[in-house]
Amino acid sequence: MKLVYTDQYDLNLGDHVFPSVKYRLTKEELVRERVVSEGDILEPEPASDEDIARVHHWNYIEKLKRGTLSYEEILRMEVPYSSELVRAVWLAAGGSILAGRLALKDGAAVNLSGGFHHAFPDHGEGFCVIHDVAVAIRRLQKDGAIRAAMTVDCDVHQGNGTAFIFRDDPTVFTFSIHQERNYPYPKPHSNLDINLEDGADDEEYLAALEEGLDESLAQFKPDLIFYVAGADPYREDQLGGLSLSMEGLMRRDRMVFEKTQAKGIPRVVTLAGGYARRVEDTVRIHANTVRVAKEFAS
Ligand SMILES: [Zn+2]
Repeated sequence: MKLVYTDQYDLNLGDHVFPSVKYRLTKEELVRERVVSEGDILEPEPASDEDIARVHHWNYIEKLKRGTLSYEEILRMEVPYSSELVRAVWLAAGGSILAGRLALKDGAAVNLSGGFHHAFPDHGEGFCVIHDVAVAIRRLQKDGAIRAAMTVDCDVHQGNGTAFIFRDDPTVFTFSIHQERNYPYPKPHSNLDINLEDGADDEEYLAALEEGLDESLAQFKPDLIFYVAGADPYREDQLGGLSLSMEGLMRRDRMVFEKTQAKGIPRVVTLAGGYARRVEDTVRIHANTVRVAKEFAS
């Protein structure tokens, strides 16, 4: 299985609750434990501005490139602005495009970044600047590589940007399973939203996920699935209020892959959030997702 990664994925956030060093640490763990070899790792190109503009407004793109966002706009992103940040999110979008192409070939591929599901066409929020998954879907559709896509969003926070971007698009089905009493407020409707109570554990989560996946896959037949595999449903997460164990999260990953395997649908993994008290836990959860994905790739 191929993995898309570059050291420039680091968002240059300094001391921040978002541990953007996790991208490099996850890659190093995967290589150290021989889940992937260096030869399986591909460097992305940054997405083109035209690719970005299929999702985002030119006005916003120009502000990002020129560094002319207002103070309020930067506050809303909740990450410090820098040219490295802009470079990283353009690369993350290019990485999701590349991982999409690889998944169509191999059944599964991983972008070791991305899942920036809180980005909107005209603004960034919740640590998300550019919606890499939406950019990738639009580009793959434009190339004729896919017609229909589905997002399966298992981050603890609802995929508000995804829901908004694809709200009137019959070619993209959006499914999000998340903690109800948590950011974002409000939550624009996905095609299917599952709102979980605070403290939901492995069994409650997995039962709800199974129902959600079955319903989504019965309603809609995508050519490709983008799995937004947030590590933040973990019980030790600082920004999440669910109670999944590390084993439960791996069972979650396996359920997503088994159900989509049964339908013969290729999958792209993106990482999204993860704010465990110990960064090693976040890294372990992301690495586990890649371990499961590899079992299902050719
Ligand atoms: Zn999250």
